[in-house]
Amino acid sequence: MNINPTMPYANLIQPGDNPDLTKERKTASFNLWKMQCFVYEGEEVVKRRKEILEFVQSTPEFNDEIPAEFLSREEVVDRGARKAVVMTNKADAIDTSDFFGEGMYYQSLVIGRDLHSMSLHYIMFMPTIQGQSDDDQMDEWMGPTAARAFLGTFAQTELGHGSNLTKLEATATYDPKTEEFVLHTPTLTATKWWPGGLGKSCNVAVVMAQLYTNGQCKGPHPFFVPLRDPETHMPMKGVTLGDIGPKFGINGSDNGFLIFDHYRIPRRNMFMRFSKVLPDGTYVAPPHAKLGFGTMVFVRSIMIKDQATQLGAAAVIGIRYSAVRRQGEINEGAGEVQVIDYRTQQFRLLPQLARAFAFLFAAYEIKTLYLNVTEQIGTGNMDLLAELHAVSSGLKAVVSWETAQGVEQLRLACGGHGYSRASAFPDIYTYAVGGCTYEGENIVMLLQVARFLMKCAKEVRIGNAKLADIGAYIAKTDSGKSHIRSWRQCSDEDIIHDFEAVARRMIFASYDRLKSFETTMTKKEAWNKCSIDLCKTARVRELCEL
Ligand SMILES: Cc1cc2nc3c(=O)[nH]c(=O)nc-3n(C[C@H](O)[C@H](O)[C@H](O)COP(=O)(O)OP(=O)(O)OC[C@H]3O[C@@H](n4cnc5c(N)ncnc54)[C@H](O)[C@@H]3O)c2cc1C
Repeated sequence: MNINPTMPYANLIQPGDNPDLTKERKTASFNLWKMQCFVYEGEEVVKRRKEILEFVQSTPEFNDEIPAEFLSREEVVDRGARKAVVMTNKADAIDTSDFFGEGMYYQSLVIGRDLHSMSLHYIMFMPTIQGQSDDDQMDEWMGPTAARAFLGTFAQTELGHGSNLTKLEATATYDPKTEEFVLHTPTLTATKWWPGGLGKSCNVAVVMAQLYTNGQCKGPHPFFVPLRDPETHMPMKGVTLGDIGPKFGINGSDNGFLIFDHYRIPRRNMFMRFSKVLPDGTYVAPPHAKLGFGTMVFVRSIMIKDQATQLGAAAVIGIRYSAVRRQGEINEGAGEVQVIDYRTQQFRLLPQLARAFAFLFAAYEIKTLYLNVTEQIGTGNMDLLAELHAVSSGLKAVVSWETAQGVEQLRLACGGHGYSRASAFPDIYTYAVGGCTYEGENIVMLLQVARFLMKCAKEVRIGNAKLADIGAYIAKTDSGKSHIRSWRQCSDEDIIHDFEAVARRMIFASYDRLKSFETTMTKKEAWNKCSIDLCKTARVRELCEL
């Protein structure tokens, strides 16, 4: 094996390691250094990861004497907040313009498998300021946001509605006499519920509320809303808020609730990059309904990478455990074998490792596509934005679902020890599985993809489909017959060809079924009736992408 010992992590074998682990590592059929460079996209990245790891390990404020598993929830939130402050104060250790790469890695090393009181500030609040503010708002808000004078969150979901945003109940009614919006929570179900960091930490929020002006409702719009007094940190008059209590996981984040009682904010606190309300109350609509999609695609690429990382960590734990765990014999009297030698164990472990790689590469791909489409948007071309948005929504759904199933398989692969919190599985699972719900509930996401696919199918049938490279196969007229005669001889192209053929067949079968139902019932009823098929179709389309 061609290992250069000067390369970081060229050799993971350490004196005193478990001999079974060392034995497995010595039989590796690939060069570890090359593998890392391939997985992390280059030598420089691997070297930077090592530097960041060493920095975190050598920073006393990041070292915990007591593991988080033994702390109370309040202590976990406190510790997370303290470390998050140090982490951002020492952010010079990383390239802060590279959140997808260095930022995510740095944060995972410092915070672990959890969020913290400032997570939403960076993941959702700051991107909204950047993406939705007009130039004057950007000048006013971006400086204090970057300097953390504002600590923000994103308040969209309500007790009554999360998926169906058109039915959000919180209102922002424009008052032209004072040039203010009046924010109000008209019902219990209109209470904002879930925003991360809202419970104890944030002093401002992006609030999504139904915009009313001149007596008309213009749908949900984002507003910049001060929530707590910057001096005392007490809630502003007209604002009631607090923590929603312990959750399934991610307990380092103080998710909260929020109620408005005729709370007034200036007109200019409506984000006005795309839509506007003029002083007299005239509403100016956005030039393109899908302009907000770009940021969502980027957040999805981060989520997919995060999920891949969780599955990868679980796979490493499961595989290492299986190498050191000896139980039972394959040949009587030959001694107990490493459980990794059982075919059933390999069947349980190895697909999860393969999935973790596939998901990681999918995240890279989505990020690259996002950058390309952003460039196109800059030239005024929005054609591919909807398709990229659909693909990234669906991938988020499939990847988070597969990750949840995979982590559970890996936990089972560790027997009783997998059930101990010391195994890390409970924390990996409860952290990762949140991704099936936030940023769009998975089934709702798949149905969104299906809607896009049905539109494509219709356009292909009519002959005016405009599809990006990623979806071009939908319009192919290939017979769909498999080229694979033997698994030993099939190429990558053959496998992709077959995946595309299956996806295409399912898309048109679902389309025909939907159209047939539409002849006897309303479109919405037909959609509901076909929705299981539609989800399966969307899922296969995403597996095809993977
Ligand atoms: C850990 C975590 C952090 C969060 N952080 C935030 C945050 O910071 N800010 C924020 O605003 N929100 C946050 N949320 C809220 C989250 O975005 C919503 O919970 C999510 O969008 C799902 O909405 P819901 O709760 O209304 O689910 P529901 O839509 O009520 O889902 C319940 C069930 O109904 C099904 N369903 C719903 N609609 C349809 C449909 N049209 N067709 C078929 N089936 C349907 C779903 O598939 C699901 O099975 C967070 C949630 C979690 C778990």
